[in-house]
Amino acid sequence: MNFELSEDHKLIKQYVRDFAEAEIAPTTAERDRKSECPTEIIKKCGEMGYFGMFIPEEYGGAGMDYLSYVLAIEEFARVDASVAVILSVTNSLAAYSIFKFGNEDQKQKFLVPLASGKKLGGYMLTEAGAGSDAGSLRATAILKGDNYVINGSKMFITSGLMADTFIVFAKTDPEAKSGRGISAFVVDAKAKGLSVSKKENKLGIRSSDTCEMVFEDCEIPKENLLGEEGDGFKMALHILDGGRVGISAQANGISTAALENAIKYANERKQFNRTIGSFQAIQFKLADMATKLEAARLLMIQAAWKKQNEMKCTKECAMSKVFSSESCTWITNQAVQIFGGYGYMNEYPVERLMRDAKITELYEGTSEVQRIVISRNIMK
Ligand SMILES: Cc1cc2nc3c(=O)[nH]c(=O)nc-3n(C[C@H](O)[C@H](O)[C@H](O)COP(=O)(O)OP(=O)(O)OC[C@H]3O[C@@H](n4cnc5c(N)ncnc54)[C@H](O)[C@@H]3O)c2cc1C
Repeated sequence: MNFELSEDHKLIKQYVRDFAEAEIAPTTAERDRKSECPTEIIKKCGEMGYFGMFIPEEYGGAGMDYLSYVLAIEEFARVDASVAVILSVTNSLAAYSIFKFGNEDQKQKFLVPLASGKKLGGYMLTEAGAGSDAGSLRATAILKGDNYVINGSKMFITSGLMADTFIVFAKTDPEAKSGRGISAFVVDAKAKGLSVSKKENKLGIRSSDTCEMVFEDCEIPKENLLGEEGDGFKMALHILDGGRVGISAQANGISTAALENAIKYANERKQFNRTIGSFQAIQFKLADMATKLEAARLLMIQAAWKKQNEMKCTKECAMSKVFSSESCTWITNQAVQIFGGYGYMNEYPVERLMRDAKITELYEGTSEVQRIVISRNIMK
Protein backbone atom coordinates (compact mmCIF):
# COMPACT_ATOMS: atom_id res chain seq x y z
CA MET A 1 0.00 0.00 0.00
CA ASN A 2 1.32 3.45 -0.95
CA PHE A 3 -0.24 6.74 0.15
CA GLU A 4 2.09 8.88 -2.00
CA LEU A 5 0.90 10.29 -5.31
CA SER A 6 2.99 9.00 -8.21
CA GLU A 7 5.52 11.32 -9.86
CA ASP A 8 3.13 11.65 -12.84
CA HIS A 9 0.24 12.66 -10.58
CA LYS A 10 2.41 15.21 -8.77
CA LEU A 11 3.52 16.65 -12.12
CA ILE A 12 -0.06 17.01 -13.38
CA LYS A 13 -1.06 18.74 -10.13
CA GLN A 14 1.85 21.18 -10.41
CA TYR A 15 1.22 21.79 -14.11
CA VAL A 16 -2.45 22.65 -13.55
CA ARG A 17 -1.56 24.76 -10.47
CA ASP A 18 0.90 26.86 -12.49
CA PHE A 19 -1.60 27.30 -15.33
CA ALA A 20 -4.48 28.17 -12.96
CA GLU A 21 -2.44 30.69 -10.98
CA ALA A 22 -1.12 32.40 -14.10
CA GLU A 23 -4.22 32.38 -16.30
CA ILE A 24 -7.25 32.17 -13.99
CA ALA A 25 -6.48 33.57 -10.53
CA PRO A 26 -5.88 37.20 -11.64
CA THR A 27 -9.53 37.63 -12.71
CA THR A 28 -11.36 35.30 -10.29
CA ALA A 29 -12.54 37.96 -7.82
CA GLU A 30 -13.66 40.41 -10.49
CA ARG A 31 -15.60 37.79 -12.48
CA ASP A 32 -17.28 36.68 -9.25
CA ARG A 33 -18.35 40.27 -8.48
CA LYS A 34 -19.62 40.84 -12.02
CA SER A 35 -21.11 37.35 -12.41
CA GLU A 36 -19.15 37.14 -15.65
CA CYS A 37 -18.56 33.89 -17.57
CA PRO A 38 -14.86 32.98 -18.01
CA THR A 39 -15.28 32.62 -21.78
CA GLU A 40 -11.66 33.20 -22.83
CA ILE A 41 -10.29 31.10 -19.96
CA ILE A 42 -12.55 28.19 -20.85
CA LYS A 43 -11.48 28.45 -24.49
CA LYS A 44 -7.86 28.25 -23.38
CA CYS A 45 -8.66 25.28 -21.11
CA GLY A 46 -10.11 23.50 -24.15
CA GLU A 47 -6.95 24.15 -26.15
CA MET A 48 -4.86 22.80 -23.26
CA GLY A 49 -6.76 19.48 -23.22
CA TYR A 50 -8.88 20.09 -20.09
CA PHE A 51 -12.28 19.23 -21.65
CA GLY A 52 -11.58 15.52 -22.15
CA MET A 53 -8.97 14.80 -19.51
CA PHE A 54 -9.70 11.08 -19.02
CA ILE A 55 -11.08 10.41 -22.51
CA PRO A 56 -8.67 8.26 -24.58
CA GLU A 57 -6.49 10.06 -27.11
CA GLU A 58 -8.15 8.21 -30.02
CA TYR A 59 -11.29 10.28 -29.27
CA GLY A 60 -9.44 13.58 -28.92
CA GLY A 61 -8.98 13.38 -25.12
CA ALA A 62 -5.86 13.78 -23.00
CA GLY A 63 -5.88 10.09 -22.03
CA MET A 64 -5.18 10.70 -18.32
CA ASP A 65 -6.46 8.42 -15.58
CA TYR A 66 -9.43 9.40 -13.40
CA LEU A 67 -7.21 10.32 -10.45
CA SER A 68 -5.28 12.81 -12.59
CA TYR A 69 -8.61 14.31 -13.62
CA VAL A 70 -9.81 14.85 -10.03
CA LEU A 71 -6.42 16.23 -8.98
CA ALA A 72 -6.70 18.72 -11.85
CA ILE A 73 -10.25 19.74 -10.84
CA GLU A 74 -8.99 20.24 -7.27
CA GLU A 75 -6.31 22.61 -8.56
CA PHE A 76 -8.77 24.56 -10.72
CA ALA A 77 -11.13 24.90 -7.72
CA ARG A 78 -8.28 26.12 -5.51
CA VAL A 79 -8.17 29.28 -7.61
CA ASP A 80 -11.69 29.40 -9.08
CA ALA A 81 -14.60 27.12 -8.15
CA SER A 82 -16.63 28.36 -11.14
CA VAL A 83 -14.04 27.29 -13.68
CA ALA A 84 -13.77 23.96 -11.83
CA VAL A 85 -17.48 23.16 -12.14
CA ILE A 86 -17.62 24.15 -15.82
CA LEU A 87 -14.75 21.75 -16.49
CA SER A 88 -16.18 19.05 -14.23
CA VAL A 89 -19.53 19.08 -16.05
CA THR A 90 -17.98 18.96 -19.51
CA ASN A 91 -15.59 16.13 -18.52
CA SER A 92 -17.43 13.83 -16.17
CA LEU A 93 -21.03 14.42 -17.25
CA ALA A 94 -21.05 15.38 -20.96
CA ALA A 95 -17.94 13.75 -22.47
CA TYR A 96 -18.16 10.69 -20.22
CA SER A 97 -21.85 10.09 -21.17
CA ILE A 98 -20.95 9.81 -24.84
CA PHE A 99 -17.77 7.84 -24.17
CA LYS A 100 -19.62 5.31 -22.02
CA PHE A 101 -22.94 5.01 -23.85
CA GLY A 102 -22.38 6.36 -27.37
CA ASN A 103 -21.90 4.21 -30.49
CA GLU A 104 -18.85 4.69 -32.71
CA ASP A 105 -20.59 7.21 -35.01
CA GLN A 106 -21.74 9.27 -32.02
CA LYS A 107 -18.24 9.19 -30.54
CA GLN A 108 -16.75 10.51 -33.78
CA LYS A 109 -19.46 13.12 -34.27
CA PHE A 110 -20.02 14.39 -30.71
CA LEU A 111 -17.24 13.16 -28.42
CA VAL A 112 -14.20 14.12 -30.53
CA PRO A 113 -15.16 17.85 -30.68
CA LEU A 114 -15.87 17.85 -26.92
CA ALA A 115 -12.79 15.95 -25.78
CA SER A 116 -10.48 17.86 -28.10
CA GLY A 117 -11.64 21.13 -26.56
CA LYS A 118 -13.52 22.58 -29.52
CA LYS A 119 -16.92 22.30 -27.87
CA LEU A 120 -18.07 22.68 -24.26
CA GLY A 121 -20.58 20.26 -22.75
CA GLY A 122 -23.60 20.56 -20.45
CA TYR A 123 -25.99 18.13 -18.76
CA MET A 124 -29.76 18.56 -18.50
CA LEU A 125 -31.46 16.32 -15.99
CA THR A 126 -33.09 18.59 -13.37
CA GLU A 127 -36.51 20.17 -13.85
CA ALA A 128 -38.55 22.57 -11.68
CA GLY A 129 -40.56 19.66 -10.26
CA ALA A 130 -37.81 17.02 -10.49
CA GLY A 131 -34.66 17.74 -8.44
CA SER A 132 -33.69 15.06 -5.91
CA ASP A 133 -36.52 13.02 -7.40
CA ALA A 134 -35.02 13.29 -10.90
CA GLY A 135 -36.87 10.15 -12.03
CA SER A 136 -40.11 12.15 -12.00
CA LEU A 137 -38.98 14.43 -14.85
CA ARG A 138 -41.69 15.51 -17.30
CA ALA A 139 -39.90 16.68 -20.49
CA THR A 140 -40.89 14.49 -23.42
CA ALA A 141 -39.09 13.24 -26.53
CA ILE A 142 -41.52 11.72 -29.00
CA LEU A 143 -40.33 9.93 -32.12
CA LYS A 144 -41.93 11.39 -35.28
CA GLY A 145 -40.50 9.94 -38.49
CA ASP A 146 -36.72 10.26 -38.34
CA ASN A 147 -36.68 12.83 -35.52
CA TYR A 148 -37.39 13.02 -31.82
CA VAL A 149 -39.43 16.10 -30.86
CA ILE A 150 -38.46 17.42 -27.42
CA ASN A 151 -40.79 19.54 -25.27
CA GLY A 152 -40.44 20.72 -21.69
CA SER A 153 -38.10 22.77 -19.55
CA LYS A 154 -34.94 22.15 -17.57
CA MET A 155 -33.83 23.93 -14.40
CA PHE A 156 -30.43 25.08 -13.04
CA ILE A 157 -28.37 24.00 -16.05
CA THR A 158 -24.63 24.70 -15.65
CA SER A 159 -23.14 26.41 -18.73
CA GLY A 160 -26.62 26.88 -20.26
CA LEU A 161 -25.24 29.95 -22.03
CA MET A 162 -21.72 28.71 -22.72
CA ALA A 163 -22.10 25.05 -23.69
CA ASP A 164 -22.28 23.83 -27.30
CA THR A 165 -23.48 20.26 -26.70
CA PHE A 166 -25.89 18.97 -24.06
CA ILE A 167 -26.82 15.57 -22.74
CA VAL A 168 -30.60 15.80 -22.28
CA PHE A 169 -32.91 13.43 -20.40
CA ALA A 170 -36.55 13.22 -21.48
CA LYS A 171 -39.43 10.76 -21.40
CA THR A 172 -39.83 8.72 -24.55
CA ASP A 173 -42.73 6.95 -22.82
CA PRO A 174 -44.67 9.70 -21.02
CA GLU A 175 -47.08 7.13 -19.52
CA ALA A 176 -44.32 5.12 -17.81
CA LYS A 177 -44.00 5.52 -14.04
CA SER A 178 -41.27 7.52 -12.28
CA GLY A 179 -37.74 6.51 -13.28
CA ARG A 180 -39.02 4.51 -16.28
CA GLY A 181 -39.43 5.44 -19.95
CA ILE A 182 -36.63 8.03 -19.76
CA SER A 183 -34.04 8.29 -22.54
CA ALA A 184 -30.86 10.30 -23.05
CA PHE A 185 -30.02 12.43 -26.09
CA VAL A 186 -27.19 14.51 -27.44
CA VAL A 187 -28.54 17.95 -28.34
CA ASP A 188 -26.73 20.80 -30.06
CA ALA A 189 -27.14 24.14 -28.25
CA LYS A 190 -28.10 25.73 -31.57
CA ALA A 191 -30.95 23.26 -32.22
CA LYS A 192 -34.12 25.07 -33.33
CA GLY A 193 -36.63 25.13 -30.47
CA LEU A 194 -34.04 25.14 -27.65
CA SER A 195 -33.52 28.39 -25.78
CA VAL A 196 -32.33 29.86 -22.49
CA SER A 197 -35.31 31.36 -20.67
CA LYS A 198 -33.45 32.68 -17.60
CA LYS A 199 -29.94 33.11 -16.22
CA GLU A 200 -30.00 32.64 -12.43
CA ASN A 201 -28.44 35.12 -9.98
CA LYS A 202 -26.59 33.07 -7.36
CA LEU A 203 -24.91 33.12 -3.94
CA GLY A 204 -21.69 31.50 -5.16
CA ILE A 205 -19.88 30.10 -8.22
CA ARG A 206 -21.14 33.32 -9.78
CA SER A 207 -18.80 33.13 -12.76
CA SER A 208 -20.39 29.86 -13.88
CA ASP A 209 -23.73 30.50 -15.60
CA THR A 210 -26.75 28.54 -14.39
CA CYS A 211 -29.81 28.65 -16.62
CA GLU A 212 -33.37 27.60 -17.09
CA MET A 213 -33.72 26.07 -20.57
CA VAL A 214 -36.85 25.54 -22.66
CA PHE A 215 -37.57 23.02 -25.42
CA GLU A 216 -40.42 23.97 -27.76
CA ASP A 217 -40.93 21.37 -30.48
CA CYS A 218 -37.18 20.95 -30.69
CA GLU A 219 -36.46 18.35 -33.38
CA ILE A 220 -33.30 16.28 -33.20
CA PRO A 221 -32.28 13.36 -35.44
CA LYS A 222 -33.12 9.94 -34.03
CA GLU A 223 -29.39 9.07 -34.34
CA ASN A 224 -28.84 11.38 -31.32
CA LEU A 225 -30.43 8.87 -28.94
CA LEU A 226 -27.72 7.72 -26.52
CA GLY A 227 -27.86 4.05 -25.53
CA GLU A 228 -31.23 2.30 -25.61
CA GLU A 229 -34.64 3.95 -25.37
CA GLY A 230 -35.87 3.73 -21.78
CA ASP A 231 -32.41 3.28 -20.21
CA GLY A 232 -31.88 7.00 -19.55
CA PHE A 233 -32.46 7.07 -15.81
CA LYS A 234 -30.10 4.15 -15.13
CA MET A 235 -27.51 5.92 -17.29
CA ALA A 236 -28.02 9.23 -15.44
CA LEU A 237 -27.37 7.56 -12.07
CA HIS A 238 -24.25 5.82 -13.35
CA ILE A 239 -22.89 9.06 -14.86
CA LEU A 240 -23.51 10.93 -11.60
CA ASP A 241 -21.27 8.51 -9.65
CA GLY A 242 -18.22 9.87 -11.47
CA GLY A 243 -19.59 13.42 -11.45
CA ARG A 244 -19.76 13.30 -7.66
CA VAL A 245 -16.04 12.60 -7.37
CA GLY A 246 -15.51 15.70 -9.53
CA ILE A 247 -17.64 17.76 -7.10
CA SER A 248 -15.71 16.24 -4.20
CA ALA A 249 -12.53 17.50 -5.91
CA GLN A 250 -14.11 20.92 -6.36
CA ALA A 251 -14.92 21.02 -2.63
CA ASN A 252 -11.40 19.92 -1.65
CA GLY A 253 -9.87 22.59 -3.90
CA ILE A 254 -11.99 25.30 -2.24
CA SER A 255 -11.04 23.91 1.20
CA THR A 256 -7.34 23.97 0.27
CA ALA A 257 -7.56 27.65 -0.64
CA ALA A 258 -9.40 28.42 2.62
CA LEU A 259 -6.80 26.60 4.72
CA GLU A 260 -3.85 28.22 2.94
CA ASN A 261 -5.34 31.70 3.34
CA ALA A 262 -6.19 31.07 7.00
CA ILE A 263 -2.67 29.84 7.86
CA LYS A 264 -1.07 32.85 6.15
CA TYR A 265 -3.38 35.30 7.90
CA ALA A 266 -2.93 33.63 11.31
CA ASN A 267 0.84 34.03 10.98
CA GLU A 268 0.55 37.72 10.03
CA ARG A 269 -2.32 39.27 11.97
CA LYS A 270 -1.38 40.61 15.40
CA GLN A 271 -3.65 41.25 18.39
CA PHE A 272 -2.56 41.59 22.03
CA ASN A 273 1.03 42.06 20.67
CA ARG A 274 1.10 38.50 19.31
CA THR A 275 0.18 36.86 16.05
CA ILE A 276 -3.30 35.36 16.32
CA GLY A 277 -1.69 32.08 15.17
CA SER A 278 0.07 31.91 18.55
CA PHE A 279 -3.32 31.45 20.29
CA GLN A 280 -4.20 27.82 20.81
CA ALA A 281 -7.83 28.55 19.87
CA ILE A 282 -6.68 29.46 16.36
CA GLN A 283 -4.10 26.64 16.16
CA PHE A 284 -6.78 24.06 16.99
CA LYS A 285 -9.13 25.45 14.35
CA LEU A 286 -6.35 25.12 11.76
CA ALA A 287 -5.55 21.60 12.95
CA ASP A 288 -9.21 20.54 12.60
CA MET A 289 -9.47 22.18 9.16
CA ALA A 290 -6.34 20.34 7.94
CA THR A 291 -7.52 17.01 9.37
CA LYS A 292 -10.94 17.19 7.73
CA LEU A 293 -9.37 18.19 4.41
CA GLU A 294 -6.90 15.30 4.51
CA ALA A 295 -9.67 12.79 5.31
CA ALA A 296 -11.78 14.23 2.48
CA ARG A 297 -8.86 13.86 0.07
CA LEU A 298 -8.34 10.23 1.03
CA LEU A 299 -12.01 9.45 0.36
CA MET A 300 -11.75 11.27 -2.98
CA ILE A 301 -8.62 9.37 -4.01
CA GLN A 302 -10.23 6.05 -3.06
CA ALA A 303 -13.38 6.85 -5.08
CA ALA A 304 -11.35 8.01 -8.10
CA TRP A 305 -9.18 4.89 -7.93
CA LYS A 306 -12.26 2.62 -7.91
CA LYS A 307 -13.81 4.59 -10.77
CA GLN A 308 -10.69 4.34 -12.92
CA ASN A 309 -10.48 0.60 -12.27
CA GLU A 310 -14.15 0.23 -13.28
CA MET A 311 -15.05 -1.16 -9.86
CA LYS A 312 -18.46 -0.61 -8.28
CA CYS A 313 -18.10 2.75 -6.56
CA THR A 314 -21.56 4.25 -5.99
CA LYS A 315 -21.13 4.18 -2.18
CA GLU A 316 -17.55 5.50 -2.26
CA CYS A 317 -18.46 8.35 -4.65
CA ALA A 318 -21.37 9.38 -2.41
CA MET A 319 -19.21 9.17 0.73
CA SER A 320 -16.50 11.22 -0.93
CA LYS A 321 -18.97 13.89 -2.03
CA VAL A 322 -20.89 14.25 1.23
CA PHE A 323 -17.75 14.34 3.38
CA SER A 324 -15.76 16.68 1.11
CA SER A 325 -18.65 19.10 0.63
CA GLU A 326 -19.74 19.30 4.27
CA SER A 327 -16.10 19.64 5.32
CA CYS A 328 -15.70 22.42 2.76
CA THR A 329 -18.64 24.38 4.16
CA TRP A 330 -17.20 23.98 7.67
CA ILE A 331 -13.58 24.73 6.68
CA THR A 332 -14.46 27.89 4.74
CA ASN A 333 -16.62 29.05 7.65
CA GLN A 334 -13.66 28.59 10.03
CA ALA A 335 -11.45 30.53 7.60
CA VAL A 336 -13.81 33.51 7.75
CA GLN A 337 -13.78 33.23 11.56
CA ILE A 338 -9.97 33.31 11.64
CA PHE A 339 -9.99 36.45 9.46
CA GLY A 340 -12.45 38.10 11.87
CA GLY A 341 -14.28 41.13 10.42
CA TYR A 342 -11.86 41.26 7.49
CA GLY A 343 -13.04 37.81 6.45
CA TYR A 344 -16.50 39.24 5.89
CA MET A 345 -15.20 41.80 3.40
CA ASN A 346 -14.69 41.07 -0.25
CA GLU A 347 -11.11 42.41 -0.28
CA TYR A 348 -10.11 38.97 1.02
CA PRO A 349 -10.95 35.73 -0.80
CA VAL A 350 -12.40 33.80 2.15
CA GLU A 351 -15.93 35.26 1.89
CA ARG A 352 -16.06 34.08 -1.76
CA LEU A 353 -14.75 30.66 -0.74
CA MET A 354 -17.49 30.40 1.89
CA ARG A 355 -20.17 31.32 -0.68
CA ASP A 356 -18.70 28.93 -3.26
CA ALA A 357 -18.51 26.07 -0.75
CA LYS A 358 -22.27 25.72 -0.18
CA ILE A 359 -23.13 24.60 -3.70
CA THR A 360 -21.01 21.46 -3.33
CA GLU A 361 -23.59 20.21 -0.77
CA LEU A 362 -26.44 20.76 -3.22
CA TYR A 363 -25.76 19.82 -6.82
CA GLU A 364 -25.26 16.34 -8.32
CA GLY A 365 -27.33 15.14 -5.36
CA THR A 366 -27.79 16.95 -2.05
CA SER A 367 -26.08 15.71 1.13
CA GLU A 368 -29.37 14.06 2.10
CA VAL A 369 -29.44 12.20 -1.22
CA GLN A 370 -25.82 11.05 -0.73
CA ARG A 371 -26.82 9.66 2.70
CA ILE A 372 -29.76 7.83 1.10
CA VAL A 373 -27.33 6.29 -1.44
CA ILE A 374 -24.82 5.32 1.27
CA SER A 375 -27.39 3.83 3.64
CA ARG A 376 -29.00 1.85 0.81
CA ASN A 377 -25.59 0.41 -0.04
CA ILE A 378 -24.55 -0.51 3.49
CA MET A 379 -27.93 -1.86 4.62
CA LYS A 380 -28.74 -4.21 1.76
C1 LIG B 1 -25.78 26.20 -9.23
C2 LIG B 1 -26.47 24.95 -9.64
C3 LIG B 1 -26.03 24.27 -10.78
C4 LIG B 1 -26.68 23.10 -11.19
N1 LIG B 1 -26.30 22.47 -12.35
C5 LIG B 1 -27.07 21.46 -12.84
C6 LIG B 1 -26.82 20.92 -14.15
O1 LIG B 1 -25.89 21.33 -14.85
N2 LIG B 1 -27.65 19.95 -14.61
C7 LIG B 1 -28.68 19.46 -13.88
O2 LIG B 1 -29.39 18.58 -14.37
N3 LIG B 1 -28.94 19.96 -12.64
C8 LIG B 1 -28.18 20.94 -12.11
N4 LIG B 1 -28.46 21.46 -10.86
C9 LIG B 1 -29.58 20.92 -10.11
C10 LIG B 1 -29.19 20.22 -8.82
O3 LIG B 1 -28.61 18.97 -9.10
C11 LIG B 1 -30.46 20.15 -7.94
O4 LIG B 1 -30.70 21.48 -7.50
C12 LIG B 1 -30.31 19.19 -6.79
O5 LIG B 1 -30.30 17.87 -7.25
C13 LIG B 1 -31.45 19.34 -5.75
O6 LIG B 1 -32.71 19.42 -6.34
P1 LIG B 1 -33.70 20.61 -5.92
O7 LIG B 1 -32.94 21.87 -6.01
O8 LIG B 1 -34.94 20.51 -6.71
O9 LIG B 1 -34.01 20.35 -4.38
P2 LIG B 1 -35.15 19.37 -3.79
O10 LIG B 1 -35.04 18.04 -4.39
O11 LIG B 1 -36.48 20.07 -3.84
O12 LIG B 1 -34.69 19.25 -2.27
C14 LIG B 1 -35.03 20.22 -1.26
C15 LIG B 1 -34.53 19.67 0.08
O13 LIG B 1 -35.24 18.45 0.39
C16 LIG B 1 -34.30 17.41 0.61
N5 LIG B 1 -34.86 16.14 0.15
C17 LIG B 1 -35.43 15.86 -1.05
N6 LIG B 1 -35.79 14.57 -1.11
C18 LIG B 1 -35.43 14.01 0.07
C19 LIG B 1 -35.53 12.70 0.63
N7 LIG B 1 -36.05 11.68 -0.05
N8 LIG B 1 -35.04 12.50 1.87
C20 LIG B 1 -34.49 13.51 2.57
N9 LIG B 1 -34.37 14.77 2.11
C21 LIG B 1 -34.82 15.02 0.87
C22 LIG B 1 -33.07 17.81 -0.19
O14 LIG B 1 -31.92 17.14 0.27
C23 LIG B 1 -33.04 19.30 0.07
O15 LIG B 1 -32.47 19.57 1.32
C24 LIG B 1 -27.77 22.60 -10.42
C25 LIG B 1 -28.18 23.28 -9.27
C26 LIG B 1 -27.56 24.44 -8.88
C27 LIG B 1 -28.06 25.16 -7.65
